[in-house]
Amino acid sequence: MSFSALGLTEPILRALEEKGYSTPSPIQIEAIPAVLSGRDVMAAAQTGTGKTASFTLPLLQRLACGPRVKANHIRALVLTPTRELAVQVGQSVAAYGRHLPLKSGVVYGGVKINPQMMKLRGGIDVLVATPGRLLDLFSQNAVRFSQVETLVLDEADRMLDMGFIDDIRKILALLPKQRQNLLFSATFSDSIRNLTDGLLNDPLLIEVSPRNSAAENVKQWLFEVDQGKKAALLSHLVRTKDWEQVLVFTRTKNGADRLVRHLQSDNLSAVAIHGDKSQGARTRALADFKANKIRVLVATDIAARGLDINELPQVVNFDLPKVAQDYVHRIGRTGRAGLQGEGISLVSADEVKLLSAIESLIRQTLLREVEAGFIPAHKVPLTRQMKVRPKKPKKPKKKQPQSGPRGQG
Ligand code: AMP
Repeated sequence: MSFSALGLTEPILRALEEKGYSTPSPIQIEAIPAVLSGRDVMAAAQTGTGKTASFTLPLLQRLACGPRVKANHIRALVLTPTRELAVQVGQSVAAYGRHLPLKSGVVYGGVKINPQMMKLRGGIDVLVATPGRLLDLFSQNAVRFSQVETLVLDEADRMLDMGFIDDIRKILALLPKQRQNLLFSATFSDSIRNLTDGLLNDPLLIEVSPRNSAAENVKQWLFEVDQGKKAALLSHLVRTKDWEQVLVFTRTKNGADRLVRHLQSDNLSAVAIHGDKSQGARTRALADFKANKIRVLVATDIAARGLDINELPQVVNFDLPKVAQDYVHRIGRTGRAGLQGEGISLVSADEVKLLSAIESLIRQTLLREVEAGFIPAHKVPLTRQMKVRPKKPKKPKKKQPQSGPRGQG
């Protein structure tokens, strides 16, 4: 299957060739013809499946044949939960559309609004936006929606998790009724289904990977370790396993900063990326990591959303996430576009409940390992007991009914 067989035209095919893509991914095979035909789409697709191109390519092609965009107007709106994802999608739009006479732009909060207002003055064909900033721009008359032909909700589940539902509903009420709607979400929760009721018109449903399963080409396992020894174990693993580029998740911003300080004091180049860092610092950290100037990038879940790092070989869960689905999102950062990846979790005794929630979600028991020198204390008394306890004379016991092999009962 080639991209041209999907109905894409020369300027887009040329851009794809320049990006080095030769074969469409499964979601692209399904979504591109549907979006080109003007149909609504609802897709369950994890990040790493090529979902961005699956909506961007046909969207650009449709826009290329429509009317010119008017001042302060936009013709397609892509809503994303985070600034990082907005930037990422904006870059894809610019790259895939580079041979088309279309204007694109990205707006998000946390930076000055004026340059964004200026950019909108001439009109923008494809605007990628986070919900809050878009509403700010609207309230200042910087953006008008009457020319909107297509709406894309990207990572819709995360937008709801982050509490954007009211903003999304406000935006929906401002858009023309007649439009194409494309919704992408890693999972289809009940809240997503509530949102889509009445929003999507006879959508094509696409599900490219089973619900809530982690990427298949990612080898996953865990190290049992004491909480207090996790940082030392991570340094040890980075060194002994020669990990050149590893993305590490922590649950909290403080935890991320503390870990970075530990790694740096251990002479490993590391940087944290989280919500308290300025946009400039986050962009710089990501660029340095991509350029291999930094070996360990430590991120919180929200900050990591939308990070697109090609060929990322290892993802480490320094803490297990509180929400089991975040495990799937985290692991989705490796093994992208068909490459092999490794997802390693450092799990302490206090995280047992989180672990079992994750294992039941992914319907898989993760392989347990311990690393010499980092054997958790809760395993030690067991060994000691066996060594020091004097042998008691065996009492004759009542025979118990035979039970099945361990773990199968
Ligand atoms: P996404 O799922 O949209 O985040 O994309 C994951 C990664 O795959 C990105 O780095 C894309 O640039 C890349 N990608 C998307 N489509 C293809 C394709 N057909 N062939 C090769 N790489 C692709």
